[in-house]
Amino acid sequence: MADNHLVIRHPTCSAPKINQAITAYCFGRATESERKAVEAHLLECDVCWQEVQRLEVAIQALRAERGLLRSISASEIATAFGISAKLASPWAGHLWHALASCALYALLYTVAFVAEIAYQFDRYGSAALKIAPLVFGWIFGTSMAGLAIDCKLTRQGSERGLLFSVLVFLLAAVALFVGLCLFLPASPITQATVQAQTAQVAYLKTTCYWLTLAVVFWLTPFHFVVAMQRELQAGRHHLVLRLLTGDKLSVTPRGTIFLRPWVLSLLLVVVVIVALYLHFNLFDHLKPSPYMNLFENLIQTRLILYFTLGVECLAWYYRALNELKRECLAAEMISA
Ligand SMILES: [Zn+2]
Repeated sequence: MADNHLVIRHPTCSAPKINQAITAYCFGRATESERKAVEAHLLECDVCWQEVQRLEVAIQALRAERGLLRSISASEIATAFGISAKLASPWAGHLWHALASCALYALLYTVAFVAEIAYQFDRYGSAALKIAPLVFGWIFGTSMAGLAIDCKLTRQGSERGLLFSVLVFLLAAVALFVGLCLFLPASPITQATVQAQTAQVAYLKTTCYWLTLAVVFWLTPFHFVVAMQRELQAGRHHLVLRLLTGDKLSVTPRGTIFLRPWVLSLLLVVVVIVALYLHFNLFDHLKPSPYMNLFENLIQTRLILYFTLGVECLAWYYRALNELKRECLAAEMISA
């Protein structure tokens, strides 16, 4: 890829020696005489003028993130081409993220399922514990498949990766709900002083929350990163860098949405505050029962799992975006 750029980029510069000084000039490392020569040359050479403009995007990114500057040394450039090369690997090189997030997500469904019947654990407990591993296995397997489908379609250049992964998650949750309705009682189990919902409705409600949040915090960022890997592999690192550095004229590829990590972080904080409020409100209205403690512990575990999933996804997203930027910068430096 880098070789192609070299060939395409300097077809007509009449002063290759000055052209070579452009990178140093842009980074403020040129000597006084080089600087004068480059500035005089820029007035007459379109090739070099375009190159300076191109490098400016890279420089803006470096100024915004000094951490990246330290990590770009000549010896590291060779190893920086990591993230796009992993596109062909299982789950586009994000196997650990896929395993961790799918396991947390599946645990969430499992714990929530047991919580719905916890108030009558003596009656439903032993059956629920037998069904619980099935719930975990079903959600874990379908989620891994959903992410894999996104990777596969995106790798092939399709725009529908995100759509299909969302559909897989949705269908998996619907199928699980239908299956669990055979077991979950259609009457209120949890005893509270406020109007209690039936176990089925309560489970459906929590499922809807998680699906929404999975799409926002998990599937959309995942798809964006995989799509950017594909763009980098196609040699469009300049476009990716423009996008990642917030250039207003840059556009995301079809079928992808670029959610800024700081927006997601803020959103997660808001969601956690609301969830904490709702949980304490629920705990205030519970009627005493021998299993009240079990119920509260399960609900708290559910909240912790949920929060951990959000943090895991965000941490992964930050890291992946930085790796993408690093690769873009390395590519810009190599082709400069
Ligand atoms: Zn030139």
